[in-house]
Amino acid sequence: MVSTRSARRTATTVALAVTALLAVGLVGEPRAQAATTTSTLRIGTSVQGRALVAIHRSAPGATKRVLVIGVIHGNEKAGWWVIERLKRWDVPANVDLWLIPSINPDGMAANTRTNAHKVDLNRNFPQSWVYAGKGTSKYSGPSAGSEPETRAVMAFVKAHPPRTTVVLHQPLFGVDSYHAKSITLVQALARETQLPVKSFACSSTCHGTLTGWHNAYTPGRAVTIEFGASASTWRLSVVAAGIRKVGSAY
Ligand SMILES: [Zn+2]
Repeated sequence: MVSTRSARRTATTVALAVTALLAVGLVGEPRAQAATTTSTLRIGTSVQGRALVAIHRSAPGATKRVLVIGVIHGNEKAGWWVIERLKRWDVPANVDLWLIPSINPDGMAANTRTNAHKVDLNRNFPQSWVYAGKGTSKYSGPSAGSEPETRAVMAFVKAHPPRTTVVLHQPLFGVDSYHAKSITLVQALARETQLPVKSFACSSTCHGTLTGWHNAYTPGRAVTIEFGASASTWRLSVVAAGIRKVGSAY
């Protein structure tokens, strides 16, 4: 017959073993919290028929909607690897997280800045749009919002207005303060991503950019972050962690 004391000791041992196993699981890479659910939404189709998707990760009651766009210029792929991290890591309890790995999959496949119509999507949004650059890698497109990728992002942002949006680029290395809607947010992102604050004023004035359109026509704040020409795994992780932290705190 097992005494009460020995049964209690056995129960304690089992509980300690379970605690130890949980602790082992928590070491290293942060894991998704149990309450976080992940789903994928198709938001549109590229010129060449590739799917444009947004990944939604959130727990019940999360109030701060954060959108991260990994790639808009197809030859600037570092942001893709930021999204890969944010797809796996813990989501802060207050963050309603949306991840768009790429709005330019055709450009990624061809390793071009532009989409398959040779349009720079970051000159195609209907805010301060001008017709410019035909035949160059900064072609505005024939009209504002002419591209299906542009329209997919606009529809998504209108339907799910983010509080904070971060758009990732290369190679200017910094957090953009040009026409910042919230300089406090820009400075916090720079501090937490360990990147400098810089003003990326295009050539002189930015025309038809995603962040310009977002900041003009939605309540949320959009910020451009530029990696250097290349990005180490350390840098990718620091930037992913910084976006997650600032998205939760601001
Ligand atoms: Zn870019």
